[in-house]
Amino acid sequence: MLGDTIWFEKTLNILKNKFNLVSIKDIENFYYNGKTLKNSCHLTIDDGDKTFYNIIYPVLKKMNIPATLFVSPKICTDLSNFWFQEIRVMDPDKLKKIISEDYKVDLTVLQPYSIFVILKNMKINQIWTLIGRYKSLYNLPPIENQNMSIEQLKEIDRYGLVTIGAHTMNHPILANETDETSRQEIVDSIRGLENILDHEVKYFAYPNGTPNLDLSVREIEILKNTNCSLAFSVEKQDFKLADNPFSIPRYGLTTGSKYFIKAKILLGKNWDLIKNMGSKDEVSLRLELKKK
Ligand SMILES: [Zn+2]
Repeated sequence: MLGDTIWFEKTLNILKNKFNLVSIKDIENFYYNGKTLKNSCHLTIDDGDKTFYNIIYPVLKKMNIPATLFVSPKICTDLSNFWFQEIRVMDPDKLKKIISEDYKVDLTVLQPYSIFVILKNMKINQIWTLIGRYKSLYNLPPIENQNMSIEQLKEIDRYGLVTIGAHTMNHPILANETDETSRQEIVDSIRGLENILDHEVKYFAYPNGTPNLDLSVREIEILKNTNCSLAFSVEKQDFKLADNPFSIPRYGLTTGSKYFIKAKILLGKNWDLIKNMGSKDEVSLRLELKKK
């Protein structure tokens, strides 16, 4: 998995044999300056937890492979955790019980869904209220910080192999938020990073990243009015010139054997069709719950 040096090195070797591993500048030039890219792939990593600094970054340096890391300046400055990192150590049934009480929803409506499917239909301040309620109800001690510090971020930035991009302040599902919150989350994260790194920040990745569900036309319009030139979704497609440069597709790789990874690369956009045969994926479950 992603937190494992041997796995990551093997995965990079598979990618290196199959693709030209290009820089974000090459991707920018592809969309804006007519650069031709053949059989190319750019690595991006979201969130910036300590695994990146301790495991991924040393391997990238050793193999001299460029990448982009999308982080929140707030999380790195506060040495705090993202909501999903806090939720992971909590009992999902107890969380559902609190939601059912606070929002007067029958528990049987929530029961079939994973806690993440439920939370991804909520606003960020509702999620943090829930986390606070759980902690006080069950006397949960503070959870250790799981993310990189500002110093580590600056060190990576100075070395120059990995480009730092923005990923909002609090990792909300932007499309669930008001116009003002969505704009602030995006703009503040870009400006915050620019202040920390003392240079322009030109790249952004949407939290969660499914077009028309996690982000909408509104978020794309907000980004067009910033210094950013590229923004990344998680739409599972090969990137191509016809893409909107503010909604560039990406494939995800976080775990699996070398055979699994090779199959996933080979199948590309058809991977999900095969993986989800006979079962509902997270996106359809969220849409289903939204209607209830
Ligand atoms: Zn993220």
